[in-house]
Parts: sequence; C-alpha cells; structure tokens
Amino acid sequence: MAVLEGLEFGKSDFVLLDEVNIEQFMENLKLRFEKARIYTFIGEGVVSVNPYKQMDIYGKEDINAYRGRELYENPPHLYAVADAAYKAMKRRAKDTCIVVSGESGAGKTEASKYIMQYIAAITNPSQRAEVESVKNVLLKSNCVLEAFGNAKTNRNDNSSRFGKYMDINFNFNGDPTGGHINNYLLEKLLRGGSDDMLKSLHLHNDPANYVYTRDGATSYNDRYSHNAVLSALNVIGFSEEEIHSIYRILGTILILGNLQFETDRESVLVVGMEDVSHIAELISTEPNNVTKSLLYRTVATGAGEVIEKGHSEKEACFGRDAFTKALYERLFGWIVSRINAVIEVKDYNPVLHGKNTVIGVLDIYGFEIFDNNSFEQFCINYCNEKLQQLFIQLILCQEQDEYKREGITWQHIDYFNNQIIVDLVEQPHKGIISVLDEACLSVGKVTDTVCLESMDAKLGQHPHYTSRKLAPSDKTMEFHRDFRIRHYAGDVTYSVEGFLDKNKDPLFQDFKRLMFNSSNPVMKEMWPDGQLSITEVTKRPLTAATLFKNSIVALVEKLSCKEPYYVRCIKPNDMKSPALFDDARCQHQVAYLGLLENVRVRRAGFAYRQAYTRFLQRYKMTCEYTWPNHLMGTDREAVEAIVTQHGFQDDVAYGHTKLFVRTPKSLFTLEQERAAL
Ligand code: ATP
Ligand code: MG
Repeated sequence: MAVLEGLEFGKSDFVLLDEVNIEQFMENLKLRFEKARIYTFIGEGVVSVNPYKQMDIYGKEDINAYRGRELYENPPHLYAVADAAYKAMKRRAKDTCIVVSGESGAGKTEASKYIMQYIAAITNPSQRAEVESVKNVLLKSNCVLEAFGNAKTNRNDNSSRFGKYMDINFNFNGDPTGGHINNYLLEKLLRGGSDDMLKSLHLHNDPANYVYTRDGATSYNDRYSHNAVLSALNVIGFSEEEIHSIYRILGTILILGNLQFETDRESVLVVGMEDVSHIAELISTEPNNVTKSLLYRTVATGAGEVIEKGHSEKEACFGRDAFTKALYERLFGWIVSRINAVIEVKDYNPVLHGKNTVIGVLDIYGFEIFDNNSFEQFCINYCNEKLQQLFIQLILCQEQDEYKREGITWQHIDYFNNQIIVDLVEQPHKGIISVLDEACLSVGKVTDTVCLESMDAKLGQHPHYTSRKLAPSDKTMEFHRDFRIRHYAGDVTYSVEGFLDKNKDPLFQDFKRLMFNSSNPVMKEMWPDGQLSITEVTKRPLTAATLFKNSIVALVEKLSCKEPYYVRCIKPNDMKSPALFDDARCQHQVAYLGLLENVRVRRAGFAYRQAYTRFLQRYKMTCEYTWPNHLMGTDREAVEAIVTQHGFQDDVAYGHTKLFVRTPKSLFTLEQERAAL
C-alpha cells in the first residue's frame, strides 16, 4: 500500500520548490527518477518520466490505496489524478478531462491506458452486466485503434500516429454508460517508408501474401497478435463483411504502394496490369475503372464542359500516393465512427437517470521541435498553443470565479499569456493559416516562396514572427525558405517547403468516385462524397490547415466546459534505457512542455481547497483544541485552531465554506503527523 515518502526522494510536488527555476526543477526531477519515483505532482497535475521498465505500482492494492482519497494523501501517481477527476465528476456532477501530453515515446498512451484501467477498476462495484460490457468495449477499442493507428518509428516502437480524445460517459451512480472517440491528424505515413505501419498491421510487404484476404495468410508476430485484433473487432461488433472489407482495403494499399508507371511514346501506362486486376477485385470494381482513375482526371472547363485529361507520369505518381493515403485515412476514420456507433450512449433519460457526466481523456502529441520542422510540426505546435491557452483560461479564470464566490482576494501573479501566438496562427484574414489558404486558393502558380513573402508582408511586425528576410543578421535561418515562430515553449524555425502541397486536398475526385461506385457497401459508405460529379465539387475545398484548425477549435470547446487535470510526460533518453537521465534532453522537454510556467500559474493561486467539515474530520486528531471533540463554535473556527497550532496561517485563506491552501506543504505536514499518531 502506498505511503507518504520522506524527503530523500525529493519534493513530491514541484509547487514545493524553494524557488521556481530550471535548476531546482531539474534537480528534483532527476533525483526522483533515479530513486524510481517516476511521478511528481504539479498541483492537481502530474509529471511522469517514462521508466522504460515494468514498475510494480499498478496492482490491485495500488488502485485501492488511491481510491477515493485526496491527492496529497498518497505519493504522486496517475491514479491520484484519475481519482481526483473521477471524484470531482461524481461528487460535484462536474464534467472533467485529463489532458495527457508529451513528445513521442514519453509514455502518453501508456498513461492513458492506466487511467482508463483505473477508472474501469473503481466503477461498477455491483458488476452489472450491461456496465461491464460497456467497459469491455471501451477498453477493447484501444487495442483496435492501436493496431490501425500505431506504428514502429525510430522514436517509439509503438508510436500513435494520431491524436485521440475519448469521452467516457457516466450515469448518476458514477458507472460508465458509453463514450465517444475523436481522432486528429492521422500522420501521412503512407508516403514513402510505410512498411513499418503495414507490418504492424500484420501484413507482410511481400506480394505472395497479398492474397491473404482469400486464404487468410497473415503474420502473427507483432505487439498485438492478429487474433487479439480480430477478437477485439468481434467484441466491438464489427461484422464478418466489415472485417473482410478492412483487410481488402489494407491489401489495396499494399499493392498501390508498389505500383509503378511508365511513359510509352507520350502516353502513360501502369506497369503490371495484374496488380490493377487485383486491386479491382479487392475493391469490387472493374479493372478498367481502376486504370482510368490512375491515369486520367476529369476536369470541368470554364465553359462548363467536362473533359478527361491524361496524367503525366509525375501526376500519376502524385495521384497514387494521395489515393493510398486517403484510403488509409478514410478507413481509420470509418473504424472510429463504427466504434462510436457501438459505444454511443443510448436511451439515456436524464429525468429517470439523473445527470449524465463525462470524463474526457486526451492523448495528443506534445510540442515538436526537430532539426527540420515542416507543416506537420506547425499544426502540432499550434495545437499545443491552443491547449496552453486553455490551461491558462481554465486554471486562472475558473480559480478567480471560485475565489469570488468564496469571498477570497485574488493576488495577481505574472505569467505569460500566449493568446498573442494563437492569434498569429489562427486569426481570420491576418494569421498564418489564412495567408496559407489564400495562397492555396489563388489561381495561377503560387510557390512556397511566394507564400512566405506574403507572410512576411502581413506578419512582419508581429513580435512572435520573423524570417531571415526580416532579420538578415540571423544566419540560423535560410533566405526564402524559413520562418520562425516564437512559441510559448521556445523558438521553432519552420521550412515552408511543401507547405502549400500539404495544405491542399490533393485527391482527385476520380478516386472518390471510383470508391463510391464500388459494389462493396462498406467501401461505398466510406466515400459518400464520391457521388458528386466534377461540376458539383466545390471549387474551394477546405484546406488541411483549416480542417485541422476547426477540429482543434471544436476540441478546445469540448474541453473548455470541463474541469481539467494534466499529465505531462517526459522521455528520459533516446535509447529507451531505464537507467539514463539525459539532462539536456529532459531540460528541453521541461521547457517546451511549459512546466515552469505551469508551476508559476499554480503558485499564483491556492492549489488546494477543502470544505471545513471534511478538513476537520481528517485532521482534528492533530490538534489539542479539536481532539477528541472541538470545543469551539463553528467548523471554521475549529479549522482555524488546527491551522494556527501548526503555524501555517500564512499559507491559507478562509472562504465561506472552504479552507484554501496555497502550497501542499502544510497538507503534507498534517498528513505526516496524522500518520505518525
Ligand atoms: P507516441 O507519441 O509516439 O505515441 P507515447 O507518448 O504515446 O508516444 P508510449 O507508447 O505510451 O509513448 O510509450 C512508449 C514506450 O515506453 C511503451 O511502449 C513502453 O515500453 C514504455 N513505457 C511508457 N510508459 C511506461 C510505464 N509507465 N511503465 C513502463 N513502461 C512504460
Ligand atoms: Mg502514443
């Protein structure tokens, strides 16, 4: 059972540092990691360092130790945060969310799974069958999403290539009744080196195995065995036909990946017609339709005429790659929507069942700074700016509201408000995304370089934006290629190369129509937009950046009405070693996760609060005036006596119904005294 630890393990909450500076922060983080203390609080949030080894801290007894307890009553743990979120939800009927962030390999997905397992373990004590089945599907959905959305990369053997937000719904008993999953920006893996992901889907990249949909030949050697994935698909309720269609699409992707074109006297041809027949068979259409979509595109002329235009070899390759990627994206999106259909809360009657509350769990890429940063990093880092902004608003604004309600004076403490950077990226007509979109939608040839020029022209004055052109002395950037954003977490230089292509929807309508006309109903369902004729297709489809922005704005909206809890994950080294704490790498992450900023924001307010009655119940034995019975008037007066006897009156404020405590130090002292009695 978990017990409070002594100081030899460092400070269990960064809020307790004598001074908030990077040296003290790192010293504490390292000390704790070396003593196998992988979790440390920042207020109600927790910082986690990936241990890269199995820890004996996730057992049944551990779960019981955290169940229903206050945060500071146990050592820092994911379970403490999960329990705090659950308790707030249950006791106060509050929607809550747990935001898990950190770089690739830092342990986000593992943390999310422990959180889900904890919630599953503490709910439904009476083992009601319908609740058990909801829990089972929720847990199984992880396995399916990981099988299709994860891949081995050089940073992580089981890397999630998509961001995931999962809502779990609860009834008034606090038992799960269903859920909903949103996925964000599945990485464009299938261009080029895609073998790893396909292997992780248990498909050999070997033509002999392409017929697996007929004879069932697959490889079983991966993290999730093929059987486990199949069984999870079955538990969730995918039909035989659907499962077959999934594997047929994967087969199509494999073949497309190898498909080549050649030019023979002006005309472009597919090399290897047997592949085309094979694709046609897999997607239930005629080979002729496949060839046509690969080699031609339908275009509407200015006069409203519809003509067929042959691709150049380069265009054909571009089309093939875009198609392959889109097939995968649609498949993944469809799988998520099928899971959602199953876990959606049905027949919930608030009058009969009471308020339906939610805990959301967000597992999303943290800030990324590479040697070469491109469009993807731009999107990801923008997302992190939005989440930081949400953090500031929720923690500070909501705190202020509660203080007002409780009649406590708010003391302002400085912190950096990153709204200005959010605006730099997303402001209509002015921000970077809007400049990008304009460049993509304008007729004629706009290159990445031209686009950078117009960004310079529009944003040159912005304090968080520069390019080499605007700061010629800065030799770390390249002329006509790089721009830099001063993010809240640090400076990132982006190369505009490829920005415009990545921002456009590059998929020719012909491919959408090909899939919509498939006689396989599952595939048809994935491509509803394929029924539009070329003249009906909107001339200005939403760009990738705008679609991403919309999804992040919607996400923030969902989160902003919830009480947030944070898990910040850190990767101790790049060798997957349990023994190495790479100071430079860790410090870098502490910086861009904004952890010092988090501590400051936390210290700006009262991190802990407790109703007088409960506080008194828990600590009355530590004070002579209150033990065994308090002789003084109200609960509040009794609490004042306890606080004064322990000498931390400067660390608290008295609200109308609650005691507010600035740092956890006082509470730890009380906990220790209580334990020593
Ligand atoms: P990505 O952004 O690439 O998806 P991630 O942050 O989700 O990365 P995980 O997949 O959760 O990273 O973790 C990477 C690996 O680190 C895991 O496969 C596991 O081996 C190890 N690991 C992470 N957390 C823990 C833990 N709490 N205990 C033991 N091992 C862990
Ligand atoms: Mg992950």
